[in-house]
Amino acid sequence: MKQPFVTKDQLVDIAERYPTPFHLYDEAGIRANARAVREAFSWNPGFREYFAVKANPNPTLVGILAEEGCGCDCSSLTELMIARLLGITGEKIMFSSNDTPAEDFRLARELGAIVNFDDISHIPFFEEVAGPVGPVASCRFNPGGLFRLANGIMDSPGDSKYGMTEEQLFEAYRMLVARGCATLGLHAFLASNTHGNEYYPALARILFELAVRLHEETGAHVGFVNLSGGVGIPYRPDDEPCDIRAIGEGVRRAYEEVLVPAGMDDVAIYTEMGRFMMGPYGCLVTLALHEKRIYKDYLGVDASAVDLIRPAMYGAYHHITVMGQAGGPDKSSWPASRTYDVTGNLCENNDKFAVDRALPEVERGDLLVIHDTGAHGYSMGYNYNGRLRSAEVLLREDGSTELIRRAETPSDYFATLDVTKGQSLRNIK
Ligand SMILES: *Cc1c(COP(=O)(O)O)cnc(C)c1O
Repeated sequence: MKQPFVTKDQLVDIAERYPTPFHLYDEAGIRANARAVREAFSWNPGFREYFAVKANPNPTLVGILAEEGCGCDCSSLTELMIARLLGITGEKIMFSSNDTPAEDFRLARELGAIVNFDDISHIPFFEEVAGPVGPVASCRFNPGGLFRLANGIMDSPGDSKYGMTEEQLFEAYRMLVARGCATLGLHAFLASNTHGNEYYPALARILFELAVRLHEETGAHVGFVNLSGGVGIPYRPDDEPCDIRAIGEGVRRAYEEVLVPAGMDDVAIYTEMGRFMMGPYGCLVTLALHEKRIYKDYLGVDASAVDLIRPAMYGAYHHITVMGQAGGPDKSSWPASRTYDVTGNLCENNDKFAVDRALPEVERGDLLVIHDTGAHGYSMGYNYNGRLRSAEVLLREDGSTELIRRAETPSDYFATLDVTKGQSLRNIK
């Protein structure tokens, strides 16, 4: 059974201090997992995980990962600013953006980030708007067609907007070598939320073989191969979790079979995981507000898709545990005797955290935990219906809690209006 990282009594306590809904994060889980990742790739002296900041841009959480040795994978101006805020600069930033605005490139250069070029045309664009490319740069590869592993089609890179064709990649490498880049990297992201332990090793083999050819044909020194993100997590109770140690071993085998015989045994392995680093270590805590029985049974909670859009956007499964309430029984292991659609309050019928979900009997005031919201949860939030974004709370290793982002207030919602142009705004407060 999938269990939350807090007990019912702990959660009741926390919810007395911070009004629901809020995202709750587990520092101990984040640190233990980051250490397991580092350990799994410890055979590679240059290994670095660049945490994909878009998955969870809370500076406190990014800072915890930085303490565990992670860099930042940024893709926008404000994500770069978060890295800078934390004192993360230079080669500890991978700037993996696409359709990149000039000011983003300018800040990336100012911070000395490694720029991972998404397109060959971005190289002259970068030089025009930001100045010379630094001594280290990277290119993103898109092999086109379908990406298959032994167990079937994983994704269709041919339909994806990212990366360069193989021909462009060789040309881009020649351009960068001619500009004096001493160290070049190679990056690709071919499948998202993968299960099993085969994705990284298969991707690594493709990129390693390509790296050998790039080195031979362009004379470039390939300093790193960046496997990007895509390692999945067990959202469903019966999903098998990825084994990061087995994944690291699979990459090592490909390394020894492809790179070492080519004399390229100094290549560093980089990753840019987001979901795997943070997903399981966050949950959305929400309160049961209304039970509505019409043609189906609806359980209305005080969170909505503005706090977690994945179910509404992708039909994504997020497990839900009914915890209960202060003074009441611990329902977290109760049998599922009812079937509900669990809904938020947006005027939008896809605002459902779950459809036809078997759950224990819920009463008004019960706390619910929506699992695995640590990545692409808060960060994909928005303000539809004028709904305000929730707080974020960190459960520290010592069991204490800390508010690491307050909830929005109506003033935040109205803050971007130009008050000099509207008298009536005075009435808002
Ligand atoms: C989204 C993204 C990641 C992280 O992906 P996960 O699936 O969360 O691991 C890494 N790199 C880039 C460039 C991305 O766009």
